[in-house]
Amino acid sequence: MPSDLIVRLTAPNGRQYDQPTGLFINNEWVASSDGGKITSINPSNEQDIIAVHAATTQDVDLAVRAAHQALRHPSWASLAASDRGKLLYRLAQLVDDHRETLATIETWDNGKPYSASLGEDMVEVSETLRYYAGFADKNFGQVIETTADKFAYTVREPVGVCGQIIPWNYPLAMAAWKLGPALACGNTVVLKPAEQTPLSILFFANLVAEAGFPAGVVNIVNGLGSVAGAALAEHPLVAKIAFTGSTATARAIMRSASGTLKNMTLETGGKSPLVVFDDADVELAAEWAHAGIMSNQGQICTATSRVLVQRGVYDAFLEAFKARVRDISRVGDPFDEATFQGPQVTRAQMERVLAYVDVGVKEGATLEMGGRERLVVGGQQKGFYVQPAVFTNVTPQMRVFQEEVFGPFVVLAAFESEDEVVALANDSQYGLGSAVFTRDLTRAHRVARRIEAGMVWINSSNDSDWRVPFGGVKQSGIGRELGEAGLAAYSTIKAIHVNMRSKL
Ligand code: ADP
Repeated sequence: MPSDLIVRLTAPNGRQYDQPTGLFINNEWVASSDGGKITSINPSNEQDIIAVHAATTQDVDLAVRAAHQALRHPSWASLAASDRGKLLYRLAQLVDDHRETLATIETWDNGKPYSASLGEDMVEVSETLRYYAGFADKNFGQVIETTADKFAYTVREPVGVCGQIIPWNYPLAMAAWKLGPALACGNTVVLKPAEQTPLSILFFANLVAEAGFPAGVVNIVNGLGSVAGAALAEHPLVAKIAFTGSTATARAIMRSASGTLKNMTLETGGKSPLVVFDDADVELAAEWAHAGIMSNQGQICTATSRVLVQRGVYDAFLEAFKARVRDISRVGDPFDEATFQGPQVTRAQMERVLAYVDVGVKEGATLEMGGRERLVVGGQQKGFYVQPAVFTNVTPQMRVFQEEVFGPFVVLAAFESEDEVVALANDSQYGLGSAVFTRDLTRAHRVARRIEAGMVWINSSNDSDWRVPFGGVKQSGIGRELGEAGLAAYSTIKAIHVNMRSKL
């Protein structure tokens, strides 16, 4: 193997490890066919971490063919379902064994606080794999009553080669959400990490081989969206695309995939409302509202970025919320234990947040907290840091009420009645998450039913769980991930009719 395909690195926290930099095809590391690379950058100081190989269209074709062969190879196709589950359990254990290295890489490449990488993301990765491991031998068909002359039943079969396109906000967790159900159902995979954050997924690839998955079952090709992602979405041997990312990119992927009518799950953008009624526990609402938009640098598709507060508690809520931002949202080095908010993932994202602060100010909203300039951390003029931004006096006509910012950026508006807030909450092209704070049981459930969203949190926000379905309506996506519902996207139903008569 060429020596530059695995490189020994020392992370900012002193941890040393071997970083793969190639394309993972057939359980082996290979260079890209044109030698092209993309450099991963540390968002907290803008220094290069390492250059990793970027797949060409030809490389993606190689990976898809490997996955297509593996789909039919007896080592995978004839493996007992329970044994598929055991491979996933083993992979989950390997993630746990290497969680400190994986969390280090995630923080270095993405900028999220190490405490969150280790205590949240890596837990989600191994637990999601474990959850789906248990389903591997529980994908049941049905026996269907028809007539005495017919015995009819269904079996669940894998969809085929699955192309999985991963975002940069939760790199390894989003990979686990997609790999778990795909592998439990017996599919094979070509996974493309986001080109901004491929490093943790490349390290994880070695664990896939170590767990014992046959060659070609999981292939990982880093590369540009417009090249490697598009090649995957267009490839005739890819049966399904699972995508998490922006709504605009999802549209492009649907177009590319239309040529061969691919099966598809899309998890896209959001502008999720969080509603606080007069009878709510205001402190509790402020705590969750803060976590719901400021966690992960605000880079969460389900972030509750529109906070709608009933007039009677508006002032009290605003004070409690601003106090949370002041006291909790400490911006700084992601390897510092005291840090709540690290840098945005890239310069483009930092500039996007700052541009939206300008938009809000120009539209006449009130900037209660936050700044129009990047934030200087530790005296260095480097790093993609911004202050958390809080806007009030926001109206539904404003772009900052309607458009997804994808940063630590929240807008607040007041309302009078339940009907008014339901209309405000639903005044969006998106329908991903939503939250309702009230102590009135019947109102909680009534409003939950009236909100147009894939998920409603009552008296919390963004406490998603791998055992519960996740996904959106409207422009927020198609299909569901996680929970038992997440399996539906990864198997097809075959109906088998048995004639029981001896004469026609
Ligand atoms: P962002 O705009 O913040 O980078 P995207 O939604 O474009 O977010 O990216 C999510 C994932 O989609 C990444 O892995 C990216 O490489 C990939 N991607 C981007 N453009 C395309 C495309 N045209 N076809 C397929 N995948 C794409």
